[in-house]
Amino acid sequence: MKDLILVRFGELGLKGKNRLYFQNILLNRIREVLTPLGVCRCRRTHGRIFVEVPGNLEEALDRLQRVFGIVSLSPSRRLPLDLEVIKEEALVQLCLARDQDGGSSFKVEARRSNKSFAYNSMEINQLVGAHLLQNTRGFTVDVKNPDIRVVVEIRREAYVYSRQLPGPGGLPVGTGGRAVLLLSGGIDSPVAGWMTMKRGVNIIPVYFHSPPFTGDRAQGKVLALCRILAGYGGKLPLHVVHFTEIQKALRLHGPEELGTILMRRMMMRLAQEIARRVGAQALVTGESIGQVASQTLEGLRATDAVVDLPVLRPLIGLDKVEIIELARKIDTYNTSILPYDDCCTLFVPKRPATRPRLQQVEAAEEGLPLRELVEGALEQTEIIKVTEMGKEENNKTGP
Ligand code: ATP
Ligand code: MG
Repeated sequence: MKDLILVRFGELGLKGKNRLYFQNILLNRIREVLTPLGVCRCRRTHGRIFVEVPGNLEEALDRLQRVFGIVSLSPSRRLPLDLEVIKEEALVQLCLARDQDGGSSFKVEARRSNKSFAYNSMEINQLVGAHLLQNTRGFTVDVKNPDIRVVVEIRREAYVYSRQLPGPGGLPVGTGGRAVLLLSGGIDSPVAGWMTMKRGVNIIPVYFHSPPFTGDRAQGKVLALCRILAGYGGKLPLHVVHFTEIQKALRLHGPEELGTILMRRMMMRLAQEIARRVGAQALVTGESIGQVASQTLEGLRATDAVVDLPVLRPLIGLDKVEIIELARKIDTYNTSILPYDDCCTLFVPKRPATRPRLQQVEAAEEGLPLRELVEGALEQTEIIKVTEMGKEENNKTGP
């Protein structure tokens, strides 16, 4: 008898010739997240993956529930093709499901692909169902809308399971190219990063750090957010760009009301340069229309005007409450609300321009040594490889 997790993947099945490629990336990611629990064996059959669980089953389930590409999971047992053994296991699974999720009605669902087994699906349903009724109290059979489904699959061996947990869906990270994520310590950008990873994109987070205006604790918060995101998508190369000189230059040079927009344009230029160096095809931000002064259509136009790469804004149509709900679901919310300043909140103009005209913004930049500012900041960029377990290694020399 073996403990297994049955992994179902949805969209992956639809990818024609690319199917194997997608499935292999998913398999690798599954192995990677389970490695800390011990050596794990995965087998792919009939459009599903069976994972032999090393160590703690609940912990393995928890980790797999963060793997993009997985639609649902069922902890199950593999058994010999012996009806008595199957009946006993069905009883164990029924009680397990009731203990975990409650319920008072059940249904046995037999599927027999191995026709050499002596009983057909109907017979299995009846015999196992009768065994469950005889050996439990308070359960009724409901074939239409049961609280618990006890599934018995007859293949080369038998599989019995009763619980089905949701996965995050989406596509395995690594199947959708790379994008640079502008990651602040706020609520929005980690959610934007999560949504981008969910579609299979590898993200390279970039954080603009302005010491001494933003301290080590602000950077610590961004690191903590990266660790949470790494639990979903694997190791992340966090780029910390030193932004102080740029902020000082903008403050001296530009009109105050354009401060935010000028700063965002510098961020975009730097992010695009990093994207070029790491081979990323897009930039991602946590903006949504109308949320703050710089997030008007005019503001977005003025920031996008300095880059050629597509700028993805996965939160564009969401309300703040919807973003917060997602942040809670993916577990970034409590870290995001820790009270450390980010560079935007420190330099916000008293009366920011909400409808900056592009010409006006470009005029405000005239005379700024843009190239030197960008190169100077990039030279001081630090790359920190972050895993869900913590900080891995540091590279002070920049990209
Ligand atoms: P967030 O909660 O993501 O910080 P916000 O509503 O506070 O968003 P802004 O601070 O105006 O919005 O920033 C808009 C976007 O610009 C952020 O979502 C993020 O993508 C990027 N950004 C802002 N500040 C930084 C920073 N210090 N480092 C990296 N990216 C940043
Ligand atoms: Mg912010």
